[in-house]
Amino acid sequence: MALIPMKEILDAAEDGKYGVPALNINEMLQLQAYLNAAFELRSPVILQASMGSRQFTGWLSKGNPNANLGAAVTMGMIKTFLEQYRCEYGYDVPVSITLDHGPNFEECKGAIDNGFPSVMIDGSIDYSRKNEKGKNPARSLEENIRVTREVVEYAHARGVSVEGELGTLGGIEDETAAETVHLTDPDEVERFVKETDCDALAVAIGTSHGAYKFPGEVKLALELVPVIHARAGNARLVMHGSSSVPADLVAMVDEFPVIRLLGGTLSINGLFNPAMEKPETRQYKISDPSEMARLGADLASFSCLKKSSGVPMEHIQAAIKSGVRKINVDTDGRIGTTGAIRKFMAENPGEFDQRKYFNAARAALYKMAVEKIKGFGSVGKA
Ligand SMILES: [Zn+2]
Repeated sequence: MALIPMKEILDAAEDGKYGVPALNINEMLQLQAYLNAAFELRSPVILQASMGSRQFTGWLSKGNPNANLGAAVTMGMIKTFLEQYRCEYGYDVPVSITLDHGPNFEECKGAIDNGFPSVMIDGSIDYSRKNEKGKNPARSLEENIRVTREVVEYAHARGVSVEGELGTLGGIEDETAAETVHLTDPDEVERFVKETDCDALAVAIGTSHGAYKFPGEVKLALELVPVIHARAGNARLVMHGSSSVPADLVAMVDEFPVIRLLGGTLSINGLFNPAMEKPETRQYKISDPSEMARLGADLASFSCLKKSSGVPMEHIQAAIKSGVRKINVDTDGRIGTTGAIRKFMAENPGEFDQRKYFNAARAALYKMAVEKIKGFGSVGKA
């Protein structure tokens, strides 16, 4: 079995009433960690490559990064690992890769032409325009249907699955930044699915992209999920922005800030109280006891990451119960990688072999993937 369209994975999840993790990848460590977790737990898995990911893998020393090159390299890398793991493990698990937030027809076509078995067309916002705040404006329902339909026609003719999006999410995931947040209107769901014939539908129920989802209490419109599910026909429901931003991963980043000591002055950059919007650099003369006392006081409320919460696993499980089948997780992989590397370097200050700290990052990514697969209920569903 080669890479399969995500429709096959999501239809099986619909029948079995479980969720499947959709994990973003940018490089080899994530791929190894996520595929190993999927093989060991015999779980289906969906991998995702965003525009930013394809530009990262499509890096060229001369000139601009080439997203199509990135797409081709990503596909080649996945296929190679998959083939080897199938021999190594002696069995197969269903794996798909999808373009995450395709901004327009051309980008989706580029991914499909490079062999992607699934794509997402995000017709909910207009990526070609930005307002003065640097945000993309929302598209009308008609415009969203038109662009999604165009991608579906090209994709379905080639056996490729398509995910559309109805309603807009907040936050930032690579270049994805909507101007305003609109929850999915259940009244529009039936029409959207019918007229676009999309295979999966990303719904906006109050999640957002990035690490800072809920400054206070977690508020999700979970009551919308069963209503949308009942009206979505054969389109499987997708939750974006569903990292849990777990306390243990955040703590790894926060507990190992980068501190610079130069000429008797200690510099530290971060957030010195929860109300701060941006980190700032503060300096302390280590020979001056009053400055060291100030450092002590500052560190009492210090953090590298802003205080906020992600989507707790219980909320995701409730959404799965009501019909969500694909759960997108990107941020947790980023925080895990960063935290593990910071921790390793703090504990092994003399180590400069990059394999050592990459190993630590990969272990954190693997652990994260195992937790998602177990939490979403896809263990043994391969
Ligand atoms: Zn997303």
